[in-house]
Amino acid sequence: MDFEFSKEQKDIVKAAREFAEGEFTDRAQEFDRAETFDEQIFKKAAALGFVGIFINEEYGGGGLGITEQCILQEEFSAVDLGTGAGVLSCCFGSEIIQEFGTEEQRKKYLPPLTKGDTIMGSALTEPNAGSDLAAAVTSAARDGNDYVINGSKMFITNGTRANYLICFVLTDPDNPNNHRRHSMVIVETDRNGFEANKLRGKLGIRASDTAEISFNNVRVPCSNLVGEPGKGFAQAMYLFNLNRIGMAAQAVGMARSALEESIKHVKKRVVFGAPLATYQAIQFKLADMYTLMHAGRNLVYEAAWRIDQAKIDHKLIAAAKAFCGQMVVRCTDMALQMHGGYGYLDEYKVQRLYRDAKIIEIYEGTTEIEKMIVARRLLI
Ligand SMILES: Cc1cc2nc3c(=O)[nH]c(=O)nc-3n(C[C@H](O)[C@H](O)[C@H](O)COP(=O)(O)OP(=O)(O)OC[C@H]3O[C@@H](n4cnc5c(N)ncnc54)[C@H](O)[C@@H]3O)c2cc1C
Repeated sequence: MDFEFSKEQKDIVKAAREFAEGEFTDRAQEFDRAETFDEQIFKKAAALGFVGIFINEEYGGGGLGITEQCILQEEFSAVDLGTGAGVLSCCFGSEIIQEFGTEEQRKKYLPPLTKGDTIMGSALTEPNAGSDLAAAVTSAARDGNDYVINGSKMFITNGTRANYLICFVLTDPDNPNNHRRHSMVIVETDRNGFEANKLRGKLGIRASDTAEISFNNVRVPCSNLVGEPGKGFAQAMYLFNLNRIGMAAQAVGMARSALEESIKHVKKRVVFGAPLATYQAIQFKLADMYTLMHAGRNLVYEAAWRIDQAKIDHKLIAAAKAFCGQMVVRCTDMALQMHGGYGYLDEYKVQRLYRDAKIIEIYEGTTEIEKMIVARRLLI
């Protein structure tokens, strides 16, 4: 058993940390307030090989694994989740093309993505189908050699930025098995009838683009289908497994940052004639934060390591996501509390961390859904 990263992984930690600190730190508050970020940062990240680190080298990716993607997620989120998610989510869904797509689709879609020339996203959630994904009703009806898509999607990351989205669509509504009714289809966002509207006023990760999408008779060729028809639900679960561990890694990065900010603050802030750090109630908070963050971190990297070793453990991934979501909400709450009134101001990083943390309990499967997965697997 080895708890150390390899030399190459340590180099990735260093490079990712330097990049995020150099590019995000001074502008995170500006991006948060403006609800967007500078696309040049994404271009630079792609040029440095941070976009699609898990995509095979033959398609321009880093040829590395989910562990390395988790390292990037942790390091970027420790500086700013909104910008980090804005950068790393640009290849959200490429996992499906890499695993289930044709060679032609891989060659067409993956290299421009890793170069930073295109952006993609995954459109699964609908206004009335989030946790219960199989209830999605956006339809793709066959018409000659095309699919004609109608419906809407909700909360889609990169919805207004993406060049194409992998869309979870209903292709076989009468199939008695509700996990065989959907397929994944690539939709170019410049097609007639496609519309994306940015959602403003999010609690956190405001720099990251989130949109609602509508499809009004959007026509795409059948060659845009990824994998076999009727396999969309299974492909979505594949995608969630690879991605939700990255979301848990985001939590670890934020919790670590909340701890670092808190340590700096409690050493400096004097109350009742002594630094906050001298009081046991404060010390216990720091100890709890460290313990929770470290437990989350071990869950994340064990689960990621198992994915990369082809020993995927669905229960462990779901447990890591559930634990880390709750962990980061608790840690950022303690951090803000230790900052008192100052933590309530957006000039203080802990305010943003506190707001951003909550998303880990919601996207890529809520805490409740993750616990359902763990329990189901325990009770098999
Ligand atoms: C900022 C942001 C970015 C996102 N990005 C994307 C994206 O890029 N692509 C995409 O497809 N989606 C995206 N999502 C959507 C996200 O994955 C969903 O919001 C999430 O899966 C929850 O679905 P819902 O919002 O419909 O909540 P619901 O499914 O309505 O759930 C509401 C509450 O009920 C609970 N609940 C549901 N079922 C049960 C049950 N059986 N038992 C007990 N409790 C239950 C849930 O845990 C939750 O607490 C994003 C969301 C946000 C906010």
